[in-house]
Amino acid sequence: MKTKLMKAVGRMPEDEDVMQEASRIIRSGGLVAIPTETVYGLAGNALDPSSSKKIYAAKGRPSDNPLIVHIADINDMNIIACDIPEKAFTLAEKFWPGPLTMILKKTDAVPFETTGGLDTVAVRMPSDEIAHEFIRLCGPFIAAPSANASGRPSCTTAEHVIEDLDGKIGLVIDGGQVGIGLESTIIDLTGDIPCLLRPGYISKDELEKTIGPIDVDPAVYNKNKKNIPPKAPGMKYRHYAPKGELSIVEGPVENVISYINGECQKASVNGKKCAVLATRETCRSYRCSLVIDLGNRDDEDTVSHNLFSSLRRCDEEGIDVIFSEAFEDSGLGSAIMNRLLKAAGNRVIKLPG
Ligand code: AMP
Ligand code: MG
Repeated sequence: MKTKLMKAVGRMPEDEDVMQEASRIIRSGGLVAIPTETVYGLAGNALDPSSSKKIYAAKGRPSDNPLIVHIADINDMNIIACDIPEKAFTLAEKFWPGPLTMILKKTDAVPFETTGGLDTVAVRMPSDEIAHEFIRLCGPFIAAPSANASGRPSCTTAEHVIEDLDGKIGLVIDGGQVGIGLESTIIDLTGDIPCLLRPGYISKDELEKTIGPIDVDPAVYNKNKKNIPPKAPGMKYRHYAPKGELSIVEGPVENVISYINGECQKASVNGKKCAVLATRETCRSYRCSLVIDLGNRDDEDTVSHNLFSSLRRCDEEGIDVIFSEAFEDSGLGSAIMNRLLKAAGNRVIKLPG
């Protein structure tokens, strides 16, 4: 299959040809990659079992890892979800359109192929203009997991999507680099107490300010214990992984720098290419041929925006060994650490103070 690449700007009528082509592909059961405010998504008709099967096949995604259904109009939520608690409407009013996914009880309209066999459905309304227009014209129910090959870092540019999915999907809509760069926050509203399943741009604090106390799925912070199955099936798989071996180094900053410098030197003596994921404050202290500046330590928006593209850059440069500084486990830092831990296969080096 030839994969087309078409640019869109997010305003009609400039995008009319792109949307027409996208609509033709989706209606004939095909797949289109789209920009969203979080990461690029791989879109298909969420109510068509064969489209969902094609999404799993194109990504190489395990079929028990359910897909998020994207909508553009809140009234459409009632068609795919039932027994919707009041808190879901409160959250939708506050955070939609935006990077929040809610798990709700599904209706019969949603095939089990889309929900990975579960009787619940994940629903989100993106704020990105191109995504919104696409869902309105090609949906209204669009299944769209992240548009990367399963296990790889999520895609924040159309070029990354082409790297992973060229020849496997009909069209990539190039809307430029995405804004947030990390996937949506996922909250399960099917139990008595809402439960955070995946940290994201919308923090636990913000959610609690809106709907009161929420639990956190223990698997979110499960750094070493592998025995607790996560409630979001996708969280059990290794994710976001670069080809090189990534380790996170935690501890007092001077110790982290000297440890990483020592390890990079050893690795280069052994003929291995090293990289360091550092912050603006420390990046000049590393002696390594590739030091990637993720942004100021307290500017977590920039760090999350740069994270996946930095992991991909390590692959482009053929890096064998990667060290990353650790981040604060609160607010957006929780989402950054969650993605880093998965990318590192939970390899954390804790240095004494
Ligand atoms: P991605 O589409 O790559 O952002 O991944 C979607 C995430 O949502 C995965 O971790 C899924 O396991 C999770 N997810 C989707 N639907 C459900 C559901 N019904 N219940 C729990 N988790 C879900
Ligand atoms: Mg994903």
